[in-house]
Amino acid sequence: MRILVQKYGGTSVAGVDRMRQVKARVEKGLAEGFKVVVVLSAMSGETNRLLGLAREFSADPDPAECDSLLTTGEQVSVALFAMLLKDAGIKCRSVLGHQIPILTNNNYGRARILEIDKARLMDLIEEFDVLVVAGFQGVSCHGRLTTLGRGGSDTTGVALAAALCAEVCEIYTDVKGVYTTDPNICSTARKLDRITYDEMLEYSSMGAKVLQIRSVEFAKKYNVPVRVRSTFCDDPGTLVTQEDEQMEDVLVSGIAYDKDQCRITVANVMDRPGVAASIFSPIADAGILVDMIVQNTSREGRTDMTFTVTRADLEKTLAILSRNNKDIGAEGVQHDLNVCKISVIGVGMRNHSGVAAMMFTCLRNENINILMISTSEIKITCLIEGKYLELAVRALHDAFGLDKPGGDRVC
Ligand code: ASP
Ligand code: MG
Repeated sequence: MRILVQKYGGTSVAGVDRMRQVKARVEKGLAEGFKVVVVLSAMSGETNRLLGLAREFSADPDPAECDSLLTTGEQVSVALFAMLLKDAGIKCRSVLGHQIPILTNNNYGRARILEIDKARLMDLIEEFDVLVVAGFQGVSCHGRLTTLGRGGSDTTGVALAAALCAEVCEIYTDVKGVYTTDPNICSTARKLDRITYDEMLEYSSMGAKVLQIRSVEFAKKYNVPVRVRSTFCDDPGTLVTQEDEQMEDVLVSGIAYDKDQCRITVANVMDRPGVAASIFSPIADAGILVDMIVQNTSREGRTDMTFTVTRADLEKTLAILSRNNKDIGAEGVQHDLNVCKISVIGVGMRNHSGVAAMMFTCLRNENINILMISTSEIKITCLIEGKYLELAVRALHDAFGLDKPGGDRVC
């Protein structure tokens, strides 16, 4: 039995006409001999509307009830779409997360998938030609409805593809695929034919909305080929896949950025064992993700500690630091919202030097000052002033030759 998983985002199911386009794609899959598992998001704007509604009723909505509410968005999509398919004589049914079940932990709002009942899923797929599954939702061990975090339908799609050993998981959206950088900023941005799981993880962690990061982690772990493509044109899109030698030949695959950052400096703390732990442990305990961290050189036994967090976490982080000041003995805490992060990403960097120098030279040529630097095996990130973001994206895209197919070849 050949199985195809197709996940459609909110804009693809936004109304009956759009759903008819989705239906045509599903019929194509059937005609090619596949059983099709269709995973749907809520209609575009619906999840935000429901969240707004929750906030009208409660200043701090109960997380479990909030998840119960949010799952309705996807329930509407699958029921309506299954009606369309049934009217066309297609043997199908809608399925909700708890009906499979997709078992999750009870971390409401950001639940993690623990287990999927494969046997039940296989029974269903044998009985029906198309299963229309609600994305984004699961059920906890206590029998309560859960959701998988914003963009979580991607993860439902990839997880089902892994469970069913599907040939591919197609993620249909309103863009043609994954680009070398944001085409809204850089007119020469190109759609990539292929990208590695690791590169895609870096893009997603930078806040690129095209795939939820957990879906990429899942795809990498279970080696699920994922194709990101548009519902509204026939372009084959971008394949997210395992690395091969050809992909390592490309030094840099793209430029990502993140405007959602702010910089915090804890000034003049004692430079002695345990200070970093005292600063960062309570922040970690509060579930706040710290990204770039730089510790200054010591002056007379004292140092500055600078790091970044997302803007949404700023107030919480400042409150923790001031509560904690007794332990760390800081002379003050400064923050700066006028910053953004820009990264060059590419698996080719693993085996080749000089990328960082090229990036710094390019920024120097544009007279852009670098505030902080961090690196990973396949990514170099600089924090710069927010007003230079667009200039930096375009200059780096150009400097690494990303406008040309094949990008900046290593050799
Ligand atoms: N409807 C959910 C959201 O807007 C899940 C998804 O669409 O992937 O985040
Ligand atoms: Mg999405």
